[in-house]
Amino acid sequence: MKIIKVDHVGIAVNSIDIGKNFWSDILGLPFEGDETVAEQKVKTAFFPVGESEVELLESTSPDGPISKYIEKKGEGIQHVAFRVDDIDSALAELKQKGIRLIDEKPRKGAGGAKIAFLHPKSTNGVLVELCER
Ligand code: ZN
Repeated sequence: MKIIKVDHVGIAVNSIDIGKNFWSDILGLPFEGDETVAEQKVKTAFFPVGESEVELLESTSPDGPISKYIEKKGEGIQHVAFRVDDIDSALAELKQKGIRLIDEKPRKGAGGAKIAFLHPKSTNGVLVELCER
């Protein structure tokens, strides 16, 4: 398994329209539009920062994972995503090492990426996303 870089940090927000004020208007990060990922019940917006990005996540449904997260913990950092060169072999290797996987197989994320989440119980409480682009 090869981790290439921190791909992005995912931040749960009530509203991308309001949330982007800080990231784009105040910090000056470029806002490149948003994208809805229907199967995850989420709308996302990416803000490039050097080699990485900030991802804002807004729920599109009250029963979506981001709604549930905000209900429990409020807005804030929800996951850290690492880019890997080969997500299928990374998942196989982690599973073999006893890491609990939320996604046994990669699914489709924003921007056509292949993504998969690792369970926080195996990662010191951090929701870790792997992505391959
Ligand atoms: Zn993400």
